[in-house]
Amino acid sequence: MTQTTQTNDPTTTIPVAPSRIPAGLEARRISAWFGDHQVLEDVDLVMAPGAVTALIGPSGCGKSTFLRILNRMHELVPGASLAGEVLLEGQDIYDPALRPIESRRRIGMVFQKANPFPTMSIYDNVLAGLSLTGKKPRRPNAETDGLVEQSLRSAGLWEEVKTRLASPGASLSGGQQQRLCIARALAVNPDVLLMDEPCSALDPTSTRRVEETIRQIAGEVTVVIVTHNMQQAHRVSDHCAFFLAAEGRPGHIVEQGPTEDIFERPQDQRTNDYVNGRF
Ligand code: ADP
Ligand code: MG
Repeated sequence: MTQTTQTNDPTTTIPVAPSRIPAGLEARRISAWFGDHQVLEDVDLVMAPGAVTALIGPSGCGKSTFLRILNRMHELVPGASLAGEVLLEGQDIYDPALRPIESRRRIGMVFQKANPFPTMSIYDNVLAGLSLTGKKPRRPNAETDGLVEQSLRSAGLWEEVKTRLASPGASLSGGQQQRLCIARALAVNPDVLLMDEPCSALDPTSTRRVEETIRQIAGEVTVVIVTHNMQQAHRVSDHCAFFLAAEGRPGHIVEQGPTEDIFERPQDQRTNDYVNGRF
């Protein structure tokens, strides 16, 4: 059903998108260490609600570490430590009062290598994350059917799999498996989706499908994507941050801003060189 809002003029109704506005994320002065090796230094980044933020930069500059910090996975690495704050809707996700499982539910993650449960059905794969929420029903019902369909539609996979939901996850192509992982992440209704090089193992057609999916969910989900593909960063993101670990400094943001500015009018020569393939 389409929601509407009454205005003061009783003859007009303004259609309102049925979707909610997701929470944004803000990293404040994030520094990170593995043992005594510092890998990130004073990273400040606002990931606006519903926007797509791309993290770019050479290998080893701390992009994956930064993503893991955004959903409390960094703290699972033995010897890893952290300074700074990550605010979700203004609340520090590292606040001891907030359970890690709750921030990980609200901040989902998709990895470079698609990792659906290979022998589990497509249907059950989509629902697998619900155990995080403690709301996993014992058996399929109309509600789970609806959630599976909606999540697969959002991930742009429904039409391809709707007649074979009982097939195992491993029966899908690489690109389909990645979109299944996106559907699984979306099924728990996250505010934020973190994606670590989600297309680097995919062929160009699958890559395009995932990019379409990202643009489709933007607005309803706050997306942060790490990519080495500059055209992809340009195509999918609204905001772009260029990371570098160089000249004796741990990983830090050299330059960030609206994607158009980073690609068309970079202020720093190193950004210019990187986005134009000279590095
Ligand atoms: P990127 O994703 O930009 O390639 P990473 O975040 O993976 O960079 O790595 C940043 C730095 O942290 C690198 O020097 C890497 O060797 C180091 N690093 C990453 N993970 C670990 C770990 N689990 N233990 C020790 N060092 C790590
Ligand atoms: Mg990485």
